[in-house]
Amino acid sequence: MPTTPAARVYRPIPANLVRLSRVLAQGGLVAAPTETVYGLAADALNAKACASIFRAKGRPANDPLIVHIESLAQAATIAEFSPAAFAVAKAFWPGPLTLVLPKKPGVPAIVTSGLPSVAVRMPAHRLFRQLIRLSGRPLAAPSANPFGYVSPTTAEHVRAGLGKRIRHILDGGACKIGVESTILDLRDPLHPVLLRPGCISREALQAVLGKPVSIVKRQSPTAPQEAAPAPGMLERHYSPRTPVVLVRKVTPKLVDAIPADEAVLLLSKPSRPTAKNIFWLTPAGKLSQAAHRLFDRLRMLDDGSWKKIHAETIPGKSALAMAINDRLARAAAK
Ligand code: AMP
Ligand code: MG
Repeated sequence: MPTTPAARVYRPIPANLVRLSRVLAQGGLVAAPTETVYGLAADALNAKACASIFRAKGRPANDPLIVHIESLAQAATIAEFSPAAFAVAKAFWPGPLTLVLPKKPGVPAIVTSGLPSVAVRMPAHRLFRQLIRLSGRPLAAPSANPFGYVSPTTAEHVRAGLGKRIRHILDGGACKIGVESTILDLRDPLHPVLLRPGCISREALQAVLGKPVSIVKRQSPTAPQEAAPAPGMLERHYSPRTPVVLVRKVTPKLVDAIPADEAVLLLSKPSRPTAKNIFWLTPAGKLSQAAHRLFDRLRMLDDGSWKKIHAETIPGKSALAMAINDRLARAAAK
C-alpha cells in the first residue's frame, strides 16, 4: 500500500472548506463528516479520483460507491428518478437514506463497479453539503476507513485508520447518527428492496411507497459475487480484530462466567456494581445514543487487549435496533 505524508486534520472554518473543496475539484481525496459516519470523498465524475478511493481503503473494485449530492436537480444528473424514487427522496432527503437507481451515462463505471445502477444520497451534514456545493461536484464517498474495519465516527478514527494513506481530514466532531445510511434498492420501483438497515425504517419507507419493501439476504463471503442480489453485501464487515460473539441477553450469571480478560458490551448500564470488563453503550438504554457510540466503543475495546468481546444484541424491531444488530452481526461473522 503506497503511503503519503501524514494526514492533516482541518478545523471546519470557511477558509479550510474552500481549500478542501479545491482539493476535491482537482481530483484529490478528502475525509469529511456526514451525519452517519465519516466519508472518504472524491469527485464522483472523475474516474481517476474515484480509483484512488479504492486504493486508499483497500476496497475491492466490485463494491460500488455511494454518490452524494446536495439537490434533487444534481441527483437527476446522476440517476433516473421514477415517481416512487422521487417520492422517497422528497420524504427523507436530506438524510440517512441511500437510493439505488438506474444510472445516467456520465457516471464512471468505476463508481458503480460496472453496474447499470448507481447509489445516491443527499446528506444532511452542513459541512459535507458545503464541500459538495463549493467543489461543484457530486462526491463519491464510502466510509473513511480501511476496508472491512469498523466505520469511523470521529476525525481521530479516520486518522488512526487512514492517516498514512490520505492527506486531508476535515474535523466536524462526532457523527450524530453513528451508523451508515439505510439503503433502498429502487432499480425496479414495483419491487423495492431494503439492502441495508439504517436509521430510516422499512415501515417508514413502505408508508411512503404504499407497498411492501422486501429485505435482501446477506451474502456469505464464499458465495460468488454474481449470485448476490446486491454487490458489497459481505457478511463480515465493520469488524474489529478482536473476535466478537453475540449474546441475546446478558444475565448476571452469564457475566460471572465470562473470564476477566474478555470484555462484555451491554446496551445499557447494569443496576448492580460491575467488574472492570463490563462496558455499555448508553447509561439508560437510549437507542439513538447507542447507535451514536457503537463504533467508538467497538474501537475502544479493540484497542484494549481483550481476548474476546461479548456483545449484547438490542431487543425489539425498531430501525435503530435492526441497524445496530446488523452491524454487530457483521462484526461477529467469521
Ligand atoms: P458503503 O459501504 O457505505 O460505501 O455502501 C455502499 C454499498 O451500497 C455497497 O456496498 C452496495 O451494497 C450498495 N451499492 C452501492 N452502489 C450500488 C449499485 N450501483 N448497485 C447496487 N448496490 C449498490
Ligand atoms: Mg461499506
